[in-house]
Amino acid sequence: MKQTPFLRPNLVKKETLLPYLTEIEESRIYSNFGPLNSRFEQRVLEEYYECDGAVTTVNNATIGLIAAISQCKRPIGKYVLLPSFTFAATPLAALWCGLQPYFVDIKPDDWCMDENQVRELVHTLGDQVAAIVPYATFGTNINLDFYQDIHESGIPVVVDAASSFGVNENNNYFGKGFPGCIVFSFHATKAFGVGEGGLLYSANKNLISQVRQAENFGFSSTKEATIQGINGKMSEYTAAIALSTLDEFPQKVKSRKQIYTWYFELLDQKAFLEKEWKLQKTKGEIPYQFMPICCPLDIKNDAVIQSLATKHIEARTYFSPPCHQQSIFKKYPHTPLTVTEKISRQILSLPLWEEMTQDDVQRIVEGLG
Ligand SMILES: *Cc1c(COP(=O)(O)O)cnc(C)c1O
Repeated sequence: MKQTPFLRPNLVKKETLLPYLTEIEESRIYSNFGPLNSRFEQRVLEEYYECDGAVTTVNNATIGLIAAISQCKRPIGKYVLLPSFTFAATPLAALWCGLQPYFVDIKPDDWCMDENQVRELVHTLGDQVAAIVPYATFGTNINLDFYQDIHESGIPVVVDAASSFGVNENNNYFGKGFPGCIVFSFHATKAFGVGEGGLLYSANKNLISQVRQAENFGFSSTKEATIQGINGKMSEYTAAIALSTLDEFPQKVKSRKQIYTWYFELLDQKAFLEKEWKLQKTKGEIPYQFMPICCPLDIKNDAVIQSLATKHIEARTYFSPPCHQQSIFKKYPHTPLTVTEKISRQILSLPLWEEMTQDDVQRIVEGLG
């Protein structure tokens, strides 16, 4: 019987990479913000951000979050406000910056951090808030106006936009003009996959140059370590994959949107959405990383996963258990996480990868029951 894996990453083919590899051989530059890396950054800045602000590549988004939070955090603060409904990398980045995660609930419709709770915590915790790290859940566009106001009031905001590269709303790519830091992941499991990699954007050029210094051992222009840095640089080989991916990305986005549409139409046709199955309320055009859906409360997500497995369909449950239920994070403070706990019992991540056919989607939807 046909097997349907959860993900089947489709990185650029070696033939596409060859001209770039030849360039690397000729330049003998393998890393340290080399020529391919610079070309990639320049293209992203022009093609996605109309040269408004600055970008820097990074060797993965977790290091990107650490570099950004460490450079922005308020020195007297101790907490990072972030959702529990996220990947462990978000609160782990707070820990690596010597800060404590403070978990905030999400909203029932878009599964993003609840702004009202953030506002209240900012009020009650005052100077103890070192930074705020919202997550643009599963690539949706979040309301950055709210966070821009907070950032401009003096509490730094770093957005975990792990799967949001290429998200577009009203002809603007996600994050454009935002004065805090936006952190994208290019992990193989994301829509813009290069293996391991990431990118940071901010409308604030100084902030990006500071983060860039942090990811290069904290070296100043005189090669002296002046801030607590790390090695977060992207290699030229990865930059070669990133440049090739940039050319193919519009096609990738198109395929992913098509598969989402098939899912949506079938779920609708088969009346799942009337039977208490719920999709995330999203904004903008999203290059879906996978297909998230909540099952009805009276069915447990684990049971659906098992039933799909008997039909040779592999599904997951991102993010279940949510971070605050994972052992390393249990001791940290949180607001009442009612919605997070409810959704983490219902959430399913269904397969969505570029070569999937309408038949694959149909088998999966039928497999849901
Ligand atoms: C993938 C992901 C990360 C980590 O990105 P890496 O590039 O793998 O380090 C962080 N946060 C979220 C929400 C993610 O989905």
